[in-house]
Amino acid sequence: MVAKAETYQFQAETKQLLDLMIHSLYTHKEIFLRELISNASDAIDKLKFEALTKPELLEPSAGSDYEIRLETDPVERTLTISDNGIGMTREEVISNIGTIARSGTKEFREKIKAANSENSVAELIGQFGVGFYSSFMVADKVTLVTRRAGETTATKWESIGDGNYSLVEADQPFRGTSITLHLKPADVDGGIEDFTDTNILERTVKQYSDFVTYPIICKEVRKEEKDGQTVTVLEDKTLNSMKPLWIRPQSEVTESEYAEFYKQIAHDWKDPIKTIQLKAEGRIEYQALLFIPSKAPFDLFMPATESGLRLYAKRVLIMEKCEELLPKYLRFIKGIVDSADLPLNISRQMLQQDRHITQIRKWITKKVLDTLKEMQEKESEKYLAFWKELGTALKEGVPGDFENQERIVSLLLFESSHDQEKLTSLKDYVGRMKEEQKDIYYMTGESRQMIENSPHLEAFKERGYEVLYLTETVDEFLVQSLPEFEGKKLKSASKGAVELGSEEEKEKAKKDLEERQKENADLLEVLKKKLDTYIKEVRLSNRLTSSPVCLVSGEYDYSPHLERLLQRSKMMDIKQKRIMELNPKHPIFLKLQERFNANREDSTLGDYAEILLGYALIAEGSELPDPVRFNTLVSELILKTL
Ligand code: ADP
Repeated sequence: MVAKAETYQFQAETKQLLDLMIHSLYTHKEIFLRELISNASDAIDKLKFEALTKPELLEPSAGSDYEIRLETDPVERTLTISDNGIGMTREEVISNIGTIARSGTKEFREKIKAANSENSVAELIGQFGVGFYSSFMVADKVTLVTRRAGETTATKWESIGDGNYSLVEADQPFRGTSITLHLKPADVDGGIEDFTDTNILERTVKQYSDFVTYPIICKEVRKEEKDGQTVTVLEDKTLNSMKPLWIRPQSEVTESEYAEFYKQIAHDWKDPIKTIQLKAEGRIEYQALLFIPSKAPFDLFMPATESGLRLYAKRVLIMEKCEELLPKYLRFIKGIVDSADLPLNISRQMLQQDRHITQIRKWITKKVLDTLKEMQEKESEKYLAFWKELGTALKEGVPGDFENQERIVSLLLFESSHDQEKLTSLKDYVGRMKEEQKDIYYMTGESRQMIENSPHLEAFKERGYEVLYLTETVDEFLVQSLPEFEGKKLKSASKGAVELGSEEEKEKAKKDLEERQKENADLLEVLKKKLDTYIKEVRLSNRLTSSPVCLVSGEYDYSPHLERLLQRSKMMDIKQKRIMELNPKHPIFLKLQERFNANREDSTLGDYAEILLGYALIAEGSELPDPVRFNTLVSELILKTL
């Protein structure tokens, strides 16, 4: 009985992606081969790994050699890439090939909508790992036949990239997958070379896939003299050297070989910004080849994202994403670790306690941080590019990795009041501190502009004290776990009392303030009573020079920025009472004093207190607790003075 083919529709996003591929002007279309070979190599890795516990998967009829074959038919204009790896069941074909795993994500939908230029097509494919579809850049029909190891039936999938694909049961005597591309006519300017030409295949394999650990074999036509006659014979030719890159001496490997390897394992289309090679011999033996990407992956801050290095035991892949090899804040690092001391069948639970792994993790972490340090010192522009993409993740290490905290802190860069354009390190900040300045000042907030305009910084600006502007969520946690740097305390400009200047100046200012505070104690109490719901104290301040009022937090309170972040992320709904600080030199305060002295019961004092609270909240970018009430008070005030 001949099975009937069933037609299915691609998901909307898959179809969009296919359209992008089909119409792509991207000129390096030959990378489709790298993508398909990489899938084939992964499939063999998976088989080898599963066979460790299920040796029956290695059916003898399939032969004992693992290999990837390229077969061409110049007349039919087809290229077939086949492997004897794990293969796929019918269900797996539907879920792996018919859908894009990540297409459900919001980011993917947005990116695909915006993708029109050539670069964004490349980035899209790279970032979302949708390599199989790149075959539609060079083929107008793709046929895939696959049989899962251990199963008896095979599945044939076929599509012309029009939004539909068909599935039908097929015959295939061996496990594995073969993908036949019905090639578009060659168009060298458009990036479509004649991929039925074995020389072109060989060149492409050498360029992109030389390090693949399984032979990539092609049939080569050779002319032979036999009995005085010239005959043509077909011979297998292995196109790749198969040497794992990480065991070759560094001096023998070119930058571009490293870059190609990176692109394959990271599914990235851009070169890495840095390659790091490590080799340890001795008590624990391992090699590592690590890469720092030049762009942040789109899912860097998604909690469910899997990360980790590829883990090999004596060249055999035993885990695709081993998270235990790096701390979370370095999750953007891609690469491989090959250890001589690990058993092949190590489980995730065992990994966590394995002392080899713990030790390797320690070394790798240190090496990555040292490399970044070196980059910062010797290649500052490159480091800046790294920082802009990935610095936010690195910051997580300050509260997260106590052992390396000092190293990480020395790598941090911040915006500051010193320079609009340039970022600063803490060390450089300290170098610029005023003679009498004791502490490092920072302020957290939504944006540079909001912090810059905030009244809290007035006294700092007047004295020419630099303030760090911290605008990222992680900064709040960072400063909490970093009480000081090189013996200088880190202090928030919007928390606690502000005392600036020399010891003498500070002493005097403090005394003056205390006196005025005492003189005005009754007035401040009246104002506080009116604002009781939001304010725990009303006091006078040296913080302000031109503004009449601002709100500050207690030394150990959450900042309003953090409160907003926690509320937004629904982690916590806290509303701490703040402290209202009045500028004793401001005409508004002097008027309040006058009014209070004339009539201590004056009911308008309470209204003014409320307006001042609103004023202070708006100035720092916070929301008003009752905007309608605020507007009523302001319009009454306008009417009174008009
Ligand atoms: P990626 O390789 O980034 O996951 P692809 O679109 O290239 O994305 O492939 C999707 C999935 O299809 C793979 O993750 C794998 O599960 C499956 N697949 C692709 N090619 C093969 C193959 N040759 N053998 C077995 N499975 C494959």
